[in-house]
Parts: sequence; structure tokens; C-alpha cells
Amino acid sequence: MVVKTPPEAPAVAGVLATALSQFDAAADRLRLDEGMRAVLRNCKRELSVNFPVTMRDGSVRVFNGYRVQHNLARGPAKGGLRYSLHVSLDEVRALAMWMTWKSAVVNLPFGGAKGGVVVDPRTLTQGELEGLTRRYATEISIIIGPDEDIPAPDMGTNDQVMAWIMDTISMHRGHTVAGVVTGKPVAVGGTLGRSEATGRGLQYIVEEVARTNKIDLKGATVAVQGFGKVGATAARLLHQAGLKVVAVSDHTSGLYNANGLDIDALDGHREDRAPLAESKAGDSITNTELLALPVDILVPAAIEDQLTAETAPAVRAKYVVEGANGPTTPEGDAIMKANGITVVPDILANAGGVIVSYFEWVQDLQFYFWDESEVNAKLHKVMTRAYADVLRTAQEHKITLREAAMVLAVGRVVEAARLRGIYP
Ligand code: NAD
Repeated sequence: MVVKTPPEAPAVAGVLATALSQFDAAADRLRLDEGMRAVLRNCKRELSVNFPVTMRDGSVRVFNGYRVQHNLARGPAKGGLRYSLHVSLDEVRALAMWMTWKSAVVNLPFGGAKGGVVVDPRTLTQGELEGLTRRYATEISIIIGPDEDIPAPDMGTNDQVMAWIMDTISMHRGHTVAGVVTGKPVAVGGTLGRSEATGRGLQYIVEEVARTNKIDLKGATVAVQGFGKVGATAARLLHQAGLKVVAVSDHTSGLYNANGLDIDALDGHREDRAPLAESKAGDSITNTELLALPVDILVPAAIEDQLTAETAPAVRAKYVVEGANGPTTPEGDAIMKANGITVVPDILANAGGVIVSYFEWVQDLQFYFWDESEVNAKLHKVMTRAYADVLRTAQEHKITLREAAMVLAVGRVVEAARLRGIYP
């Protein structure tokens, strides 16, 4: 291809700059031509919506949301929906791009997408949340569907939100369309094992890291930033696997106990149901202090841009296993590499969610549901194979696990894009 990147392409910052910098490094290693770089640096489809919602007091508020599909070369678009005040078009673009690489690195037949609404869901009543979700689902219904683009939960959304979206699309089409979203409750076409999938996949990766580095996990120490769907589940499963979870945090505060926290006792704090700042289960620490604890494994599982030029020099963990998307900036990566810290990248470490979402979609399309042990066994197989692929690539090319994961993922997307060619 000979397409040239537009010279007037605007400068980007923040999380999109991180995503593009990771892509550019892989593109250099793969010696991609300018045309392919231009295709993959841009998102294929970007829908921006402003829509009204009637609030409980009768007033009308207009909300702003997005659905972005980065690339469809390997299959329908797949990616979560985020409800947060920090949602922006650039953030959604970056997250959509990471979904393309994530699906590719674990070899799912999906492209990448992401969506979001600029809202703090904690400030809405349940009725307002439903109204907002149903109207947003209607706004993006023109580009989502089981064959087109399949949303899932992310920060600030959950299985109930997915059930409302599924019902809204089903009402429009006149019949149940279970496969339009994943992460639904089991009673309406969800899969067993989905609610824990991202944390469970992360646990499998921690076990593979231990096996390949000959580490005994019994009593190994862990700090987890973020106590939501990913962080709280990962903390609980790692605790059950015999590791000592010494610190957890949410957006309000962190908790530290050198002897290990009683994770089960903290369950009421999951997904911000009660802020961790109100718990007395350990000493109060800040999120910045948590990142600098002398632990074996650090699991950032909250938001982007946490391990940066400012915070990375203080990291004393031997391994960083990324539960969140984009928690490490390129500067943070370089610092941790120089300090001998192994980082298992987001697109591999947190892929359990999209893998079990794929299983849910397959079950919905077949109207045939599996038991949980089958879901978990298949998840284990896909995660461990992907980890082995990434580790082998890293060792062969003497590059980091993130660089290797990106080379593998981008290479697979490029292969599909080349085979499909340019229409017309
Ligand atoms: P969630 O909304 O369930 O939980 C988010 C947690 O992060 C909450 O405990 C919240 O208090 C905390 N948090 C928010 N802002 C924070 C801050 N500034 N400092 C510290 N903690 C903060 O969200 P989630 O689904 O667990 O997602 C967490 C991360 O994992 C996101 O980056 C998301 O994109 C990523 N992820 C989620 C899934 C999934 O299946 N849910 C899959 C892959 C990746």
C-alpha cells in the first residue's frame, strides 16, 4: 500500500499517545509500510452521540457518549462500555485500539471497539441509569449487533446494564437478540464464569509467570490497585490460590496489612458499593504508596496512566501484571525495564474477560450453554497458549513481553488486512 499519513494529522496526548507509541514500536519491528500504518493508527468508525434523559425530578439532561470501532479485519468488533466522567473520544479510541490487539494476541475472531458515556453512574438513581442506558443503546444501535459489534461491561457498567442493552435492542428488532452484548446475567443468555473471567485469567497468567520463572506462589505478596470487577476478583482468587494480598485500593483510599488482608471480609466494598476508606481492615495508604510497596507482584486494576515517569521509579515489585487497560505509560515502561521489572501487558494479562465474552457469544449464537468447568478449562487453555506465544516471541527477539505481545497481535491483524485487501 502507498497511502500516506495525512501530514496535518493532529498531535495526540495522554492515553491515545500511549496506545499509538506502542503501535509505532511494533510497526517499526514489523517494518510496516506507510499505508498499513495509516490504516491501523486510525479508527475505522467513530460514532459520537448527544442524547437526552429525563431525570427523576422531571428535568432533562443531555449526555455525551461514543462508540468507536478500531478495526474489523479479523471479525466483528468487540469491546466494553465505560460510564465515567473521564470518558473522552481519545480515550475511547485508545481503548478500542487495545481491544483489536487484545483479541488478536489471544487469537479470537474479533476486531476491536470501545464505548462510553460521560457520566458518574454513582450519582444516578437506578431508574435514571436504566433510562440513560436504554437511550444510549438506541443511539448506538445503528452500529452494534451480534454480527457487527458486541459491547460488554467495563468501568462503571455491569451485568444489569448489559441486560438493559440486550432488552432494548431486542425490543427494536422484535425478538430476543442475546448475542448483541456479553457480560449479561446468566438468566438472560450470559455465560457461567463471565463475571470472574478477567480476574481468573489474570490468576492463570500469574501462575504461568511463576511456573516459567520458578517462583513459589505460596506466600508470595501482592498489591492490587482498584477493587472493582477486575481488582476485587483478582485479589480474591490470588488469595484463594495461596498468595498473600497485602494491599488493595479504590478511588477513595488504599488498605495495607503486611500479614495479608482478609479479602473475603472486604467483599462489601466491591465495585464501590462502600468506599474502602470506610474499612478498618488495614492501615490506610494512598494509591501512590500502594504502587511503591515492596511486593512480589503488583496488579494495577483501576485506570490508565498509573505507572508513569513520576511513579515508576518507586516501584519495588518484581512483576507487574496489568489488570487495567493502559496503566503504564511508555516512560513508565522504560523505567521498569531498566530496573529489571517484568511487566505482563494488559492486552495479555486482562484478556480473560474478552475470551469468556467470546465463549458467551458463541453459546448465544448456538443456543447451547456450557457448564462452568468447561468455560474455565477453555479459558485456561487460551490464556496459557497466548502467554507461551508471547514469552517465546520475547525470548526469540530479546524484547519485553509488551513489545512481544504487540508484535504478535499487530502481525496477525496485518496478515488479515493484507489477505482481505482494499475494497473496492
Ligand atoms: P470497575 O468499575 O468495576 O472498578 C474500578 C475500580 O477502580 C473501582 O474500585 C474504583 O474505585 C477504582 N478506581 C477508579 N478510579 C481510581 C483511581 N483514580 N485510583 C484508584 N482506584 C480507582 O471497573 P473494572 O471493570 O474492574 O475495570 C478496571 C480496569 O480493568 C479498567 O481499566 C478496565 O478497562 C479494565 N478491564 C476490565 C475488564 C472487565 O471485564 N471488566 C476486562 C479487561 C480490562
